[in-house]
Amino acid sequence: VDLTFTPAEEAFRTELRSYLSTAIPAQWREPGFWSGIPEAEGFELRRDWERGKADAGFAGIQWPTEYGGRGGTAGMKAIYDVEMRRHRAPDTVNSLGLVFLAPTLMAVGSEEQKREILPPMLRGDVIWVQGFSEPGAGSDLAALRCKGEPTADGSGDLVINGQKIWTTNGMHGDRMFALVRTGGDAATTSRHAGISMLLIDMDQPGVDVRPLRQMSGASEFCEVFLTDARCPETENLGGLGNGWATAMLLLSFERGSSAMGQYTEFRLDWDQIAQLARRRSRSREHGVRQRLANDLVELECLKYLSWHILTEVEAGRDLGFGASMTKLQWSGAYQHLWETFHEVLGPDASDCDDPDIAAMQQVAMWSRSTSIWGGSSQVQRNVVAERVLGLPR
Ligand SMILES: Cc1cc2nc3c(=O)[nH]c(=O)nc-3n(C[C@H](O)[C@H](O)[C@H](O)COP(=O)(O)OP(=O)(O)OC[C@H]3O[C@@H](n4cnc5c(N)ncnc54)[C@H](O)[C@@H]3O)c2cc1C
Repeated sequence: VDLTFTPAEEAFRTELRSYLSTAIPAQWREPGFWSGIPEAEGFELRRDWERGKADAGFAGIQWPTEYGGRGGTAGMKAIYDVEMRRHRAPDTVNSLGLVFLAPTLMAVGSEEQKREILPPMLRGDVIWVQGFSEPGAGSDLAALRCKGEPTADGSGDLVINGQKIWTTNGMHGDRMFALVRTGGDAATTSRHAGISMLLIDMDQPGVDVRPLRQMSGASEFCEVFLTDARCPETENLGGLGNGWATAMLLLSFERGSSAMGQYTEFRLDWDQIAQLARRRSRSREHGVRQRLANDLVELECLKYLSWHILTEVEAGRDLGFGASMTKLQWSGAYQHLWETFHEVLGPDASDCDDPDIAAMQQVAMWSRSTSIWGGSSQVQRNVVAERVLGLPR
């Protein structure tokens, strides 16, 4: 583990801090600001902010300059993740594209795809969504049934029929990277064969997007119905019929991406919860102190894991199935932390009149989802047992 940054990386930190300290309006950091405005308005505000940030040179930190990036190092990207969290900068509107698709594209995409897809993704001009899960295919992703068949007219298009579910940002999506069965039959051939990752245009008559409402009141994900939707065969990532390998690579980015940014955010959350416990005179109670201490220890472990990951990435090593361990660690630490919030507040956690508490309650509810998306914790434990530790099935 290397615990240092280079002078150039520290200079980048200074430059970024100076930009962030003036570019983020103070009211954006006020409790309840984002939950107090309509979802669509918040999305457009964040999109504009992201565009401005890209124009100022603070986006695609580690991407090559020919694709609109800054051409920085993995260390600069880690610094970026940390400083964005420390300054409470708004979340990206294009996380599915930037965090999952872009690194996959960088690894297996054609030169033409990189030049066409990456610059508009960076500025939020094209919003990407992920079409993996289906009603009968979640943990068992290879059970997916969405089908793409060649048209009879020889146009080179595929006609796509099926349903996707839990599609984050579906209502804002311009394009979807979707797993579609384009060859073979799951029942007769290997379940992983004949799947393609298609890059589907969402703005067409055959794509119907329906938002789903969550317990928090937000509707951040959707069902997507594909009825005779079209996608050119050439619009695939990693080769037609080779989508399973592409999807596994993409999921390693989804599970293990930025533990350093996550640590920074969770540590700020811990401070907020500890402060709340003090304000409510609960911090001296044995149970609460014990929980806060446990949470802090877990977060410190996450910090050192994040340094280990950064060292691996800088050395050009692939996270592979080890990403499942990272996912287990950060999602576990995060959920325990927000369980402590509930322990401290009890029924008062639902006090929506206090904007501070209401904002924290939103995060507490969101934390429940982190052991599900990107592959559930139970399934990640299976992956670690079989693929990392080599235990028998
Ligand atoms: C906030 C959020 C955002 C999401 N965004 C997207 C998105 O943008 N695009 C997308 O495609 N999907 C998305 N998903 C879906 C997510 O990938 C799936 O929910 C996840 O893969 C689990 O699938 P499932 O919900 O069908 O649960 P199931 O697979 O039905 O699992 C149900 C339960 O059974 C357990 N289980 C299943 N199989 C095993 C096993 N072999 N061993 C032990 N336990 C097992 C699971 O751990 C789980 O507890 C999102 C989910 C959430 C919560």
